[in-house]
Amino acid sequence: LEPKEEFEHSSLAVDVMRPRRSDPPLAVLTQDSMTVGGVEALVESTRYSGFPVVVSQESPRLVGFVLRRDLLISIDNARKRQDGVVGASLVVFSEHPPAQAPDGPPPLRLRGIMDLSPFTVTDHTPMDITVDIFRKLGLRQCLVTHNGRLLGIITKKDILKHMAQIANRDPDSILFN
Ligand code: ADP
Repeated sequence: LEPKEEFEHSSLAVDVMRPRRSDPPLAVLTQDSMTVGGVEALVESTRYSGFPVVVSQESPRLVGFVLRRDLLISIDNARKRQDGVVGASLVVFSEHPPAQAPDGPPPLRLRGIMDLSPFTVTDHTPMDITVDIFRKLGLRQCLVTHNGRLLGIITKKDILKHMAQIANRDPDSILFN
């Protein structure tokens, strides 16, 4: 397959990324301002395989990426071990937990399960380059930014769907398997 032949040159990462305008917003975790209960509620209200971690809702700079599976296992383990982790415990992906009330529950530190350098492209990256990167690096997903702000996500399946739309044929026959 020659990407040049398959792709409209006008397709950019921003055209393929999710969420679309009509979709619910990107489901993100913040690095040190969500509780265990808040994270569980977010994870359980969606089916996404992973969640970008950002500095804060006001400052959506990308900090890392966490897989749904790893989040659920870690929270489950922490709750079972009964080391004081409860629904109100703060989930901390940052290096140092923020100052907390001395009588509050201990934070759950999850920096260890976060991918600290998830792959990103800018919103104006042409799709032929993005696909090339997916192929060469064997990516499952890639995050999309604009001026350092996180905008969206592109998964391998999003790329397959996009290619199928262009080629108007079975996605399984193209590029990945
Ligand atoms: P797949 O694309 O393999 O089904 P996911 O289940 O993670 O993988 O994603 C399903 C859809 O939701 C994809 O279109 C993807 O771009 C989008 N998506 C993935 N993660 C998120 C997220 N955290 N917030 C919003 N949309 C997401």
